[in-house]
Amino acid sequence: MRAMVLEEAGRPLVMKELPDPLPGPGEIRVRVAACGVCRTDLHVVDGDLPQPSLPLIPGHEIVGHVDMIGAGVTGFHMGERVGIPWLGHTCGACDYCRAGRENLCDHPLFTGYTRNGGYATHAVADASYAFPLGALGEDGAIAPLLCAGLIGWRSLVLAGEGKALGIYGFGAAGHIVLQVARAQGRKVFTFSRPGDREAEAFARQLGADWAGGSDEMPPEALDAAIIYAPVGSLVPAALRATRKGGRVVCAGIHMSDIPSFPYRILWEERQLLSVANLTRQDARDFLRVADEAGIRTTTTLYPLARANEALDDLRAGRLQGAAVLIP
Ligand SMILES: [Zn+2]
Ligand SMILES: [Zn+2]
Repeated sequence: MRAMVLEEAGRPLVMKELPDPLPGPGEIRVRVAACGVCRTDLHVVDGDLPQPSLPLIPGHEIVGHVDMIGAGVTGFHMGERVGIPWLGHTCGACDYCRAGRENLCDHPLFTGYTRNGGYATHAVADASYAFPLGALGEDGAIAPLLCAGLIGWRSLVLAGEGKALGIYGFGAAGHIVLQVARAQGRKVFTFSRPGDREAEAFARQLGADWAGGSDEMPPEALDAAIIYAPVGSLVPAALRATRKGGRVVCAGIHMSDIPSFPYRILWEERQLLSVANLTRQDARDFLRVADEAGIRTTTTLYPLARANEALDDLRAGRLQGAAVLIP
């Protein structure tokens, strides 16, 4: 198989010809049809996250077709289209797993971080963490649903039922969650980099009730805000825009330091919380919601060999929506 490999954090990925991986017991192999490029991949490649399993094939928004089935696997057939997300394995035995909070498992494996991912022509996955995708949409269009969509969904659930929702950072996750929130009948206010008129126009076109810069206050107080950009200064900005008793949810895996802020913007029972990973139930719930809500993603497709360019474009904020690699 061919794969784009991270040999050392902070270095560009290298195209390699590797032996085809074989699925072990309980695993399946897929021929990759598309793999989304997530901001977390940037944090892995740039060395912001500790101890990736090097050499590593990144990528955790995999759409593929089953082309080999390991011993003991039931419920999949050859050629079936499946999605493989970030949560690649959990232990099933720790307190978190037993309490139904497998996203916080003490001994997890993460696709494209601690096990190989989908920046490749083939990928192997634990069959218990792969999801049938049915006729959900085109391969490249649905790849971003597998992390931007899933983590977006989990953060939206944690944000609560409030009507007025703020979205800070309007990229892959934001443009999906905006559509889900609108389908739920919420008002959505999006905040992008100050002066990024293209992002504002894109948000309005997708149904945002208001779109502005992250240095602006929304026209009404928010019931909840979700922060997708990895920028710590957005935390006090979002708290200031959120009404009494409201919630601010940090959805990223990495963020720059949060500057100190006066206690009064947290007081009055505002809540500040973070989202980590996803559960398999999140995936089942969201894939159904995405289908019902008719989510349409905006993507830029890159051939696999141009993965470094896709990462650079994401890092520089040059993308509208999500980047997707096609092997
Ligand atoms: Zn566990
Ligand atoms: Zn991700």
